[in-house]
Amino acid sequence: MSSVAIVTGAGGGIGFEIARTCVAAGGSVVMCDLNDERGRHAVDELAAPDRVHFERVDVSDEPGVERLAEAAMRRFGRLDAMFNNAGIGGAFGPITEQSVEDWDTTFAVNVRSVFLGTKHAARVMIEQGSGGAIVNTASIAGMTGGGGPQAYSATKAAVISLTRTTAVELAPHRIRVNAVCPGAVYTELLHRGRPEQTDRWREEIQPWPERGQPEMIADVATWLASDAARFVTGEAVTADGGLMAATPRLMDHDLPHLQRMTGIAYG
Ligand code: NAD
Repeated sequence: MSSVAIVTGAGGGIGFEIARTCVAAGGSVVMCDLNDERGRHAVDELAAPDRVHFERVDVSDEPGVERLAEAAMRRFGRLDAMFNNAGIGGAFGPITEQSVEDWDTTFAVNVRSVFLGTKHAARVMIEQGSGGAIVNTASIAGMTGGGGPQAYSATKAAVISLTRTTAVELAPHRIRVNAVCPGAVYTELLHRGRPEQTDRWREEIQPWPERGQPEMIADVATWLASDAARFVTGEAVTADGGLMAATPRLMDHDLPHLQRMTGIAYG
């Protein structure tokens, strides 16, 4: 496990579990979230004040993301891993009803963030000269047509593409770039406070019997950042309880509210 990491969207869900895993392995973490309260609560829960630093940053904002890399250097003296994890559900509803603003916001939070995180982490890692690992949280929605709303799916396909192109570009610097592609994971982003609503996915279409939990994704993401994955780069690894194997049709099943309405979800 790399020793100093930045984790975006670390206030809850998958990002928090990535930060927890890094800290449990003895590492130090710069945690970032837009939600100050969530972020500070997450820091308290990790109970490792000397090895955890929180910054309230919007990941679509370049000076903010640059600040994260600076914080890693200032507080912990180096940077080994960048987890570009923060994301939102984004624009939903029929394509014929979607607004340009909602579409652009979805791309700013889900894709510009990964570009910025990669840019500023890679600058530091190249200067450091000892390589590093970048892990982007994509989604199975970026691999198929039935895994999420159009804008969200397009952003995650872009993240997978960016993962591959930057893996090729950064390999000479010994910086590995990979993506983890979760299926249905029971976080706020998915269930919006009503986990039972999405249980039908698990019962009807996800082959694996248990609910996807954030720590299951964190384990894959931190493995990708670790030396155990030292020959793995440019990969998009699915962790989805077999959904892709079974062909997901999530939009047919339990997202009727997303099909009837139009708007943007910031969670
Ligand atoms: P979550 O909503 O539980 O956590 C996301 C965190 O990101 C929140 O703490 C939120 O405050 C933060 N955030 C949102 N916008 C931000 C911004 N502009 N700047 C900084 N922080 C911001 O969601 P999660 O399920 O843990 O999602 C994490 C990642 O996993 C996302 O990229 C998401 O698209 C991806 N993902 C989730 C699922 C799932 O089923 N939950 C499936 C596939 C992919």
